[in-house]
Amino acid sequence: MSFDPQLQQAIAAHMQYLRDLGIFDFYRRDTDIATEPIAQEPDIPLRKPAPLQPPVGSFVSPPSRAEALRAIQFEIGDCTRCALSRGRNKIVFGDGDPNARLMFVGEGPGADEDAQGLPFVGRAGQLLNNMIAATGLKREQVYIANIVKCRPPQNRVPEPEEANTCSPFLFQQIDVVRPEVIVALGSTAATYLLGVKSSLSGLRGRVHNCRNTKLIVTYHPAYLLRDPRQKKEAWQDLKLAMAELGLSVPSR
Ligand code: URA
Repeated sequence: MSFDPQLQQAIAAHMQYLRDLGIFDFYRRDTDIATEPIAQEPDIPLRKPAPLQPPVGSFVSPPSRAEALRAIQFEIGDCTRCALSRGRNKIVFGDGDPNARLMFVGEGPGADEDAQGLPFVGRAGQLLNNMIAATGLKREQVYIANIVKCRPPQNRVPEPEEANTCSPFLFQQIDVVRPEVIVALGSTAATYLLGVKSSLSGLRGRVHNCRNTKLIVTYHPAYLLRDPRQKKEAWQDLKLAMAELGLSVPSR
């Protein structure tokens, strides 16, 4: 990546952001862990969120948000921080309007996302596109990201260590974009965004708080593909999100 003045400015802003979070030591990993044998995954329960999320980052003004997101992407680099890096093709950073009022967060990339480097571009993505369109918004108007940025093997649920290693970058993205509402797609997203383990049914239907942002939980589109009867329920969740944004949905 070339070092143009704009990029250097963005990196400096990102370093300041990390300092605001209380992180002062920066180092670059240069060990080639791809050549190391795959370590045994620790035997810990699935979807165990880190007990504490990093503090909310300082405000980034709307015109600087795209650059601040690029700085986060630059910081992630050719990431080898967790085992998922060994099987991935492309890192799926996130996509959409850096000034979006509404953000969707899924679990992790699947095969199509891994191939294209974009979130929700496969079958589940088609359904998510339809869900967004039903609200009257365009996909380009929202921001979409995942708990982990690399595809888990066989699309398994990310291990807690993987999710807890990757999610701080998502938290930084949330802090930069400052959406007014986040929709957590499925229980993995809900667990790591809220920092609590709970059933989806116990979390749906009300407004939570995530990093000073309203958060609404709904079904993951992949689940809705398997059980389309729940689409009605998901529509109620999206209507709640739109009401929190003060936007009306087109009549169906
Ligand atoms: N499922 C997810 O959780 N995220 C994607 O990006 C695609 C499918």
